Amino acid sequence: MDIRIGQGIDFHRLVTGRDLWLGGLLIPSDKGELAHSDGDVLLHAICDAILGAAALRDIGYHFPDNNTDYKDADSKDLLRRCLAMAEKKGFRLINIDSTVCLEKPKLSHLIPDICKSISIITGLPGDVISVKATTTEGMGFTGTGEGVIALATVLLQR
Ligand code: MG
Repeated sequence: MDIRIGQGIDFHRLVTGRDLWLGGLLIPSDKGELAHSDGDVLLHAICDAILGAAALRDIGYHFPDNNTDYKDADSKDLLRRCLAMAEKKGFRLINIDSTVCLEKPKLSHLIPDICKSISIITGLPGDVISVKATTTEGMGFTGTGEGVIALATVLLQR
């Protein structure tokens, strides 16, 4: 049995006039991710974790932000494509653990819906998808609301 761990991390600036997407879910917020794509920081971290576990480089390599094809790209689509690349190498996704670091809005009550959204995109059962939320207690760029961070870890098996 071939088991691979992968980790991913992503950062986006938060600005007014943009939507806040997390895990494929539109989150009520006065600020959203500034990005070439829809900026879904959580799905991007999961994409990188999957690509990393399969030794398939990173999301910026496959979907460069200077390519107009990916302007306003739907990150749900990018995740499906990353999964397909891993599956092409014979891997299947076992589980996802992730953390979003964001000062506001508070995410706790939205976590079940975010997990459900990731379950729908990946086809994984809900009980192997974990999304956690934290803040930096007012410190640094997440603390001031300037940005958002997401981290993800996945296991692949073939
Ligand atoms: Mg990103």
